[in-house]
Amino acid sequence: MDWRLLRCGAGGGWTELAGRKELLTEVQYVNSKKGKQLILFGGYTFTFKYHSPVKNTDYWQCTKHTCKAKLVVISNGTIKPVDLTHDHPAPREILNKNIQFGTVDQVKYINSKKGKKLIMYKDYTYNYVHYSVKMDTKQWICPRRKRGCRAKLVVNCHDKLVSEIKMVMSQSGTSLLRYNKYHYCHLRVSKAKIHHWRCTSHSSKNCRARIATKENKEIVSVLGEHSHPPPYFFRVDGTYYKV
Ligand SMILES: [Zn+2]
Ligand SMILES: [Zn+2]
Ligand SMILES: [Zn+2]
Repeated sequence: MDWRLLRCGAGGGWTELAGRKELLTEVQYVNSKKGKQLILFGGYTFTFKYHSPVKNTDYWQCTKHTCKAKLVVISNGTIKPVDLTHDHPAPREILNKNIQFGTVDQVKYINSKKGKKLIMYKDYTYNYVHYSVKMDTKQWICPRRKRGCRAKLVVNCHDKLVSEIKMVMSQSGTSLLRYNKYHYCHLRVSKAKIHHWRCTSHSSKNCRARIATKENKEIVSVLGEHSHPPPYFFRVDGTYYKV
């Protein structure tokens, strides 16, 4: 079975997607209700089963005990599906989602003429709208929201901009980093355990954009501008489809 052409349908069956150009499967580590670490892959959760010292790989099994679906995690972090034939539909909700974040720029606060606190970032101002208790982050939006502008900033308790970083897996099985709608492939790890990533369009579009992260995916630096717009993907059950 070629897993790349398949995705689990709503009823738990398989749907052929041979016509799609590209798809990326979201790989996330999440916590179960009891606090156990699970892998979220393509909308399903997997639990650690055993470590093979000979092959230096970890085996993960679907959290539904009777289901035969399995994943292998190789020592370099790459996840390979062994069997993705689930005998049940994907779980509707996964609690305690442990989303990894990266932080970059410090934001500057200014006062409006009326004395209201605003954020000034890259020559634009933002109004405060919402505090998320769970994430300990504040959301700020463009004052022109009513006129259709969707610009938004998420700021953490250290007044730093927060952007969501996700790990996704390409069709060829390569782990990619997804940040601000762009994808990055792993380049190298420095002696200081800093991971260097470069845009997946580095050769096709001669893109020079790079990211450096710590082991926990916290962003250390963002270098260079993209030479191209972000690829458009839509997301279904943890799988990104390119259009
Ligand atoms: Zn399953
Ligand atoms: Zn705006
Ligand atoms: Zn790029």
